[in-house]
Amino acid sequence: MILVLKEGMDLEAVHRVEAAIRRAGGEPRRLFGGGAAGGGVSGRDAIEARGGDTRELGSVPGVAFVLEAKEPYPRVARREGGTREVSVRGTKIGGREVVLIAGPCAVESVEQLEASARAARDGGARILRGGAFKPRTSPYSFQGLGEEGLVLLRTVADRLGMAVVTEVLDTQAVALVAEHADMLQVGSRNMQNTALLRTVGRQSRPVLLKRGMSATLEEWLLAAEYVADAGNENIVLCERGVRSFDPAARNLLDLSAVPLLRARTRLPVIVDPSHGVGVRSAIVPMALAAVAAGADGLIVECHPDPGAAKSDGFQALAPREMVALGAQVRSVAAAVGRA
Ligand code: PEP
Ligand code: MN
Repeated sequence: MILVLKEGMDLEAVHRVEAAIRRAGGEPRRLFGGGAAGGGVSGRDAIEARGGDTRELGSVPGVAFVLEAKEPYPRVARREGGTREVSVRGTKIGGREVVLIAGPCAVESVEQLEASARAARDGGARILRGGAFKPRTSPYSFQGLGEEGLVLLRTVADRLGMAVVTEVLDTQAVALVAEHADMLQVGSRNMQNTALLRTVGRQSRPVLLKRGMSATLEEWLLAAEYVADAGNENIVLCERGVRSFDPAARNLLDLSAVPLLRARTRLPVIVDPSHGVGVRSAIVPMALAAVAAGADGLIVECHPDPGAAKSDGFQALAPREMVALGAQVRSVAAAVGRA
């Protein structure tokens, strides 16, 4: 159990809360952030009560509220009620339906985006992906069309009746991206950017939180906890592969994360086999494996002419492959009791 303290308490008051925990037979452990070292309690400082009879601790003076969970991420931990459904412009992620998200790695032009979006929609995708701000490994690679890309995403998605998810790279761009997109993506490289996590947590669009490329499940869930603690619990986790020793694949797609997360968190989990493997021929089999493993959705890259793509063409499905994927996902979903 975590007791979140009222802001502005002095250390004497903290000691009184700790004494109350000990009287109840528990052991207190301070989970203080930054501000309390000098004597006062800053916002979000908390004391964990381990063991004992914790029933009365919520009414101890100085305690603002109580979070019940064995894990250090109480807001996103699994609890009664099962998986939280996250609605993206009416499409629910985390329910019985496996949700398909697809589109190009980057928005390049209206023609390229529209052709990608049609393939995505024909494959059964309800949500269009596409980067307007691209976090490229090299500063000399295509960085995306920026705001123009956001406008194109909105225009094409509206035309085809789709929702939009796109990445936001920094805190200053959150309001702009939220103006155009239905869901904000925090990418692998930013999973532990706590300022960005807090900022997307303070706005109302749902958040797609990708796994950091070397993040443990606990670090990932704590990143989600930052978003939830800032006020936004509409979070979808996305497994996108982790770094491994083997250059045969771009990343090692960790499908065990799907059932392991299911046991730990109430947040929906989707899988990105495109970045997860980075090899076109492996995308469809791993997408199907992800659905069989219990994923709530998939996010897949597709492009009308993968060989000419400005980014990640080697891992983009051609339109024909995209449509075929949709049909195969339907049969695997049905086999595991999903739609
Ligand atoms: C992306 O989805 O466009 C992307 C850059 O993915 P990741 O953050 O997983 O590398
Ligand atoms: Mn990409």
